Amino acid sequence: MAHASLVADVAAIAAIPAPTGAEEQRLAWLERRLHDAPGIRSRDDVGNLIWRWGTGRPELAIFAHVDTVFAADVDHTVRERDGWLHGPGVGDNAAAVAVAVHAVEQVLREAVLASGAVAFTVGEEGLGNLRGAHHACATLRPDAVIAVEGHGLDEICVEAVGSFRARLTMAGPGGHSWWDRGRPSALHALVSLLTVLLSEAAPDAPVNLGRVEGGGAINAIAALATGTIESRSLSDDALDAFAAGLADLCVPAPLTLTVEPLGRRPAGRIAPDHPLVAAVRNVRRTIGLPDVLADGSTDANAALAAGIPALSIGCARGHDMHATSERIETASLGAGLAQLTGVLRRLLA
Ligand SMILES: [Zn+2]
Repeated sequence: MAHASLVADVAAIAAIPAPTGAEEQRLAWLERRLHDAPGIRSRDDVGNLIWRWGTGRPELAIFAHVDTVFAADVDHTVRERDGWLHGPGVGDNAAAVAVAVHAVEQVLREAVLASGAVAFTVGEEGLGNLRGAHHACATLRPDAVIAVEGHGLDEICVEAVGSFRARLTMAGPGGHSWWDRGRPSALHALVSLLTVLLSEAAPDAPVNLGRVEGGGAINAIAALATGTIESRSLSDDALDAFAAGLADLCVPAPLTLTVEPLGRRPAGRIAPDHPLVAAVRNVRRTIGLPDVLADGSTDANAALAAGIPALSIGCARGHDMHATSERIETASLGAGLAQLTGVLRRLLA
């Protein structure tokens, strides 16, 4: 019965489109869902829904992002079939949002807890730049943060992968491919530049060229070309060096190059012997979840950057995150719920 209601909530949340920057409908659903729950709810200045209990600074804050990578016009139909829940965003992050709701409701109803909070955050995906998580860290100032994600039940993320993203725009004079031969092409110049950038990337900060566009007619010298690139790393120094290198790039006239930073996600880590990690590992041992430490890129990055001990845990097992074929194993939600209730009891009861 309790499990059926958890699965129903995952499905209800996933069915509501919530692309980064347009999370309102999903947050409004959560406000209605939590109307009679213990504790108090409020919205903060960036749009996060904050659920608090107790007085004073939270000893622990759970972060569950509500936004998804899917546009509002993607079919958000959720289907349950053969023990699996199918639909875009069922795992990332509907499962985690629903598990946070059920775990906190359950533990608050059975005991008086030390002060804590859940931040249902906005702006975690894509170019959201952890907007919600950064703000929640600054305003709640919790002693510790656990970010919950809908996939990855079998590991604890203790290393936070950071990133730097930018758009490069090359412009030139253009012209006819034969009569103006010799003029520099914006497209050729961008491709050469990117080839060098990709080949020179540091091994600890690989660079991905996500998209290139540019040029026009087959017999015209390209006047414009753009590329979006991302570097990911566990080292903030490596990311800063990459960003500084991009800012220093110059190209010969009449070409011009504009480098527009699109986002920066801080890297970080929590020591494997930190009490927060030990508490989560203990709980996992009691319910038979694997003791595997891993890396990831989540709302926990923002907390670590703010000097707050943080890690991230999954709430289900699934496949195809960030694809419309996304699915999670419904039975695994039970272990995800047991893990989070166990952690709340251990840290706050
Ligand atoms: Zn996520």
